[in-house]
Amino acid sequence: MEMNHTTKIQIHGIVQGVGFRPFVYKTAIKHSLTGYVLNCGRGVEIMVTGSDSEIERFLSDLQTKSTPLSKIYSIKTTRVPGKDFRDFMIKTSKKHSGAGSSIIPPDTGICDDCLQELFDPTNRRYLYPFTVCTNCGPRYTTVYDLPYDRGKTPMIDFPLCDACNIEYRSPEDRRYHAQPTCCPACGPKIRLIASKN
Ligand SMILES: [Zn+2]
Ligand SMILES: [Zn+2]
Repeated sequence: MEMNHTTKIQIHGIVQGVGFRPFVYKTAIKHSLTGYVLNCGRGVEIMVTGSDSEIERFLSDLQTKSTPLSKIYSIKTTRVPGKDFRDFMIKTSKKHSGAGSSIIPPDTGICDDCLQELFDPTNRRYLYPFTVCTNCGPRYTTVYDLPYDRGKTPMIDFPLCDACNIEYRSPEDRRYHAQPTCCPACGPKIRLIASKN
C-alpha cells in the first residue's frame, strides 16, 4: 500500500469562470484524492491528499483534459505536511486580495449542447435566450469583481429556482457551479417592444 501525501497546487491562468473548479473536483474524485479547490485572487488553489502516483496522474489530467475555455499558464506544486480530508470539496472563494489578480475569460458563443436544448421543444429552456452552461456564455461582460462567483455578477439579482439549483449542485451536471446559469423560471426575461410609427 502506497503512503498518502498532501500536495498544494497553485494554478495561474484562465481558470475562473470556465468550469475549472468542477473539472478539478471530478478529476480528484476519479483519482481517489481528498482535499479541496478554491478560487483565489490569482487563480485557483488546490490541496490534495492521496498516493504520489494518483497525484501525478491528477496533475497530468489537469494539464491535458481541462475544460474547453480554460488556459493554464503556470502550475506550482508544493509538498506540505500530511493532512486528512474526509472528501474532496469546492470551498468558498478566498477574499479577493487586491492587486495582481487572475485573468477574466472572454465571453463566448453558445455551445452545441446548449444549442440543442434551445431548440428542443421538450426542454425547459426551449427558446430561452439566456441559456448557458459552464462551457459557454458571457464572462467578461458580467464580472464585477474577482474571484468569479455568482454574487459578483448581475446574476445576484436572479436567485436560482429549484431545478437550476439541483443542476448547479450536481457534480455530474454540465451546469455544476456555472455562475451565469438560469432558466425561464428564474432568469432574466426579454421582451420585444414594437416602436410606434
Ligand atoms: Zn453551453
Ligand atoms: Zn431556473
